Amino acid sequence: MNDSMVHGLSRRALMRNGLVTAIGAIVAVAALPEFTGSALAADPDNYMQIITTANFSNYHCQSNWWYCIKCSGSYHSGNNTAGGVCPAGGEHQNNTSYTKYCLPHDGAALPTDSIGDGVQAGWRWCAKCQGLFWGSAQAESTCPAGGHHAITSGTYTYDLAYGQPELWLIINGGGSTQITGQTDWLYCGKCRGLFYGHGGTADGVCPAGGTHSQYSGSSNYIMIPYFSESSV
Ligand SMILES: [Zn+2]
Ligand SMILES: [Zn+2]
Ligand SMILES: [Zn+2]
Repeated sequence: MNDSMVHGLSRRALMRNGLVTAIGAIVAVAALPEFTGSALAADPDNYMQIITTANFSNYHCQSNWWYCIKCSGSYHSGNNTAGGVCPAGGEHQNNTSYTKYCLPHDGAALPTDSIGDGVQAGWRWCAKCQGLFWGSAQAESTCPAGGHHAITSGTYTYDLAYGQPELWLIINGGGSTQITGQTDWLYCGKCRGLFYGHGGTADGVCPAGGTHSQYSGSSNYIMIPYFSESSV
């Protein structure tokens, strides 16, 4: 992994000296999951780096995360389409033309900086429903497969970025690029899962009843579109 270009430099410093715009192409992502993404390779785990104005850290990034068109939640599916248990009934369902996401995992949390950017560690995958939920609230969570979401020993701990969407620097083997993440992903105070709010504070179908609803005061999270190392 070649990250020598950015080690020790803050994002603001990178912007000031032009490195951010000079080192790679900008990949624009629309504000809705319905955005049609680029052709996707079956690469499960890339390297990346997240930089705030005050800190940075390196992460692995796991692909095959999706937006569910039935419940508005996030879920993992290795077959790129349906999977798990959806609170709206049946399996979670993607549309194959929608964005596939890449979730950073097992890296450092970054404290909130002066412009509100940071990374929160501690999100977990539920083996029962395939959804993503806040691990610290497992005991208060509601799983669409019944009971609470489950934390499976040995599975990844995911790191969700929050704040500004436009300044995420991706470092790959021998190359680097900057991407724009997708905002408006919210933490549900009822089921304790992550859902897409479509710009509002409630959306979809919650396994705890009614619609998912943003936990009061919680962050506006960023989902990162999957990137192919071979495209950089
Ligand atoms: Zn669903
Ligand atoms: Zn679950
Ligand atoms: Zn919910």
